[in-house]
Amino acid sequence: MDVSVALFISHSISGFENPGPPWILGGVTLLSLFFFIWGLWPKARVMAQAAKENRMDRPIRRLGNTLVIALAQSKMFKDGPVGLMHAFIFWGFLILLFRAFQFFLIGFFPGFQMILPGWDSVAHAYLLVKDGFVLLVILACLYALFRRLVTKPKRLNLSGEGIAILGLILAIMVSDILFDGAEIAAFESLAGWWTPLGSGFSSLLTGMEGAALNHVWQVGYWTHVISILIFLVLLPRSKHFHIITSIPNVFLGNVTQTGNQLSRLDFEDESKETFGVTRIEEFSWKKLLDFHTCTECGRCDVFCPALNTDKPLSPKQFTIDLRDHLNAETPNLLSKKKKEENQTGSSGTPAALLGGVIQDETVWACTTCGACEEECPVMIEFVNKMVDLRRSLVLTENRYPKELAGAFKSLETHSNPWGFPGTQREAWAQELGVKQWDKNHPTEYLYFVGCNGSFDNRGKKISESVVRALRKAGVDFSILGNREGCTGDPARRLGNEYLFDMLATQNAKTFKEQGVIKVIVHCPHCFNSLKHEYPEFGAKLEVIHHSELLAALIKENKLPVTGGATDETVVVHDSCYMGRHNKVYDAPRDILKSTVSPERIKEVDNSRERGTCCGAGGARFLLEETGPRISHLRIDELMQANPDTIAVSCPFCVLMLEDALKAKNLADRVKVKDISEML
Ligand code: SF4
Ligand code: SF4
Repeated sequence: MDVSVALFISHSISGFENPGPPWILGGVTLLSLFFFIWGLWPKARVMAQAAKENRMDRPIRRLGNTLVIALAQSKMFKDGPVGLMHAFIFWGFLILLFRAFQFFLIGFFPGFQMILPGWDSVAHAYLLVKDGFVLLVILACLYALFRRLVTKPKRLNLSGEGIAILGLILAIMVSDILFDGAEIAAFESLAGWWTPLGSGFSSLLTGMEGAALNHVWQVGYWTHVISILIFLVLLPRSKHFHIITSIPNVFLGNVTQTGNQLSRLDFEDESKETFGVTRIEEFSWKKLLDFHTCTECGRCDVFCPALNTDKPLSPKQFTIDLRDHLNAETPNLLSKKKKEENQTGSSGTPAALLGGVIQDETVWACTTCGACEEECPVMIEFVNKMVDLRRSLVLTENRYPKELAGAFKSLETHSNPWGFPGTQREAWAQELGVKQWDKNHPTEYLYFVGCNGSFDNRGKKISESVVRALRKAGVDFSILGNREGCTGDPARRLGNEYLFDMLATQNAKTFKEQGVIKVIVHCPHCFNSLKHEYPEFGAKLEVIHHSELLAALIKENKLPVTGGATDETVVVHDSCYMGRHNKVYDAPRDILKSTVSPERIKEVDNSRERGTCCGAGGARFLLEETGPRISHLRIDELMQANPDTIAVSCPFCVLMLEDALKAKNLADRVKVKDISEML
C-alpha cells in the first residue's frame, strides 16, 4: 500500500505501539459523551416545551442562507481580518472533523487499515489542505489571543472560558503536528510535500531513538484525543455551544418575509391570562435557540444607535443576560414540583424577567432599526423579542413611559398619535384638489398618506410634493381622506398589539369595502405594515413606496426630469424600514442620479445596510430621549460628506434630522429633503 494512503487512514503500518487498549479510549469517550448529553439534554427539553413557531417554510432559501452565511461565512467578511480569522477557525474545524474521526479509528481498531486503491491523490490533497488549515487555525488562535489579551477591542469581553477554549484549539492543532512529525521521523519515506508541517517538525526530531519517537507520537495522539473530548464536555456548558447551534440557527433564521413582520396575538384565546413575554419560557423555541447561539462577538453592539448614544441597551448584553437567565431557570422549568409550585403560587416570587433581568429602559431604548440583526453572523433576531417584552409591559403589566398614555389614547380616539381630529386628515389635500377614492370609479392607485403626511406641517409639504410628482407623471390616484386611519404601526412597535389589532382591522375593512388593491405610500413604516402585516388582517395589497414608483416612472420616461439640474452636494440617508427591513436602497439613489450630477451624490461610511437610524423607529419619535440624541449622531456621520442637502425617503427621518440640524446650528447650511422634493 502507498505510504501516503496509510498515513491518511491509519498509523498501523508505522510499527509504532498502539495508543493503548481500546477500552481506555472507549471509557473516556463514553464518559465525555455522557457529560455532553447531560449538558445538552435539558436545553433541548426546554426548547421542546416552548411555544411553537414554524421555521421550516421556504427550505430552498434556508439552504441558500446556510450555504452563504453559515458555511461561506459571508457576514464575517464585512469585518476584515477579524472575520477572516474566524472563518479560518470555522473551516479548519470542518476539515479537521475527518482527522478527528481518523484518530478515534486508530484508537478503537489498532490494526485497522482502510485501503483505498487509487485514492492516493485524494489522500495527498486532504493532507495538504489539512496541514494548511492547521497552520491557519494556529495563526488565527494566536491572533484571537492577541486581541483578547493585548488590543482588547471594546466589543469583546475578556473571559477565562474564551482563553481556555482557544488553548484547547491550539492543543488540538499542535498535537496533530506532533503526531505526524513523530511518525515521519520514524519512517522517512512517509515524508512528502503533502505533509509540510509534519515533515518540517520531523526534522527537529532527527536522531531520536524509536522509543522516544513513539513517546512523542503517544503524546501527540492522546493530547489530540483528550482535548477533543474536553471540548465536547465544555460545548453545552459554555458560549461555545454556538459551534453546535449556529448552523441550525442560520438555517432556521427568519426568511418568511423581507420586512419587519411581527406576529399577531390571539385575543380570543380565553386560556391566556398574559400577553407578550413575562417569563423566559414564554419565548418561542427559536428565540431560546437564539440565546444559546450567541457567540458574544459584539458585532451587534458596534452599530446599535441606542448603545452608541449611551442608552441602557447593548444588544449583545441583552442576549447574554437572557441566555444566562434561561440557563439558571432551566432546572426549575424541567422540575414538575417547581412547576406545580409556580401554578399554586407557593414557590415564592419567581426571578423577574422584566424589571429584573432586563430593565424596562432597555426595552424602550430600542428603535427596532435592525442594525444588530444585519450584523449578527448567526442570524440572531432582536426586534421581535423587544416587541414581545414591550407587549408584556403594556398589555400585561400596564407599565410604560408616561408620554405613551396620551399617544395610545389619541390613536384609539382619533386614529393618529398626536390627537388631531380625524376630520382634519384630508384638509391638506383640499386646496390641491386631490381626488377622493370612489369605489364605483376607483383610480389605479390609492395614495395612503399616513398620519405624518396628513397632520404634521412639514409632513404635509412632502405629501404635496408627492402629489405634484404623481400628477406630472400622469399617475391615476386618489386618497381616502378622512376614511384613512393610522396603520397602527406605532402602536404595534410600542407593544400595544390590542390597539394595532383594532386599527389594522378597521383599515383592512375599509380597503376591502372600497376595493383597494394598489397602494402608494411615502412613509416606510406604513409601507412595511401594509405590505407585510396587513395580509394577516385580510388586506392583500400591492404596496409601492413613492421612491420605487418615481424611480420606475423616470426610467420609463414618464416623469420628465433634468439630469444634473442641481449642483448641490447631496448625501443619502437610508430609512431603516425601507433599507434594512425591506432592502430598498437603489430607488432613491436612481432618482437622485436623474437630478444631481453623479459626482455630487455622496455616501458616508455608515450607509445602506450599515446606515444609522435617525432615532424615530420603533415609535421612539413618541418617547422622550435621554442622553445624547441618536439624530445628532446621525447628523455628525452625514456631515462627513459636507453636504448641502440630505436626501431621505421617510417623513420621520426628515423631522428627526431637521431638528438635529437646528440643534447643531446647521439648519441654514444644510437642508433635509424628501426624495420627491428633489425632483
Ligand atoms: S434594533 Fe437597533 S436599536 Fe434595537 S437593539 Fe438592534 S441595533 Fe439597537
Ligand atoms: S447577538 Fe450575534 S452579533 Fe451580537 S454578540 Fe451575539 S452572535 Fe455576536
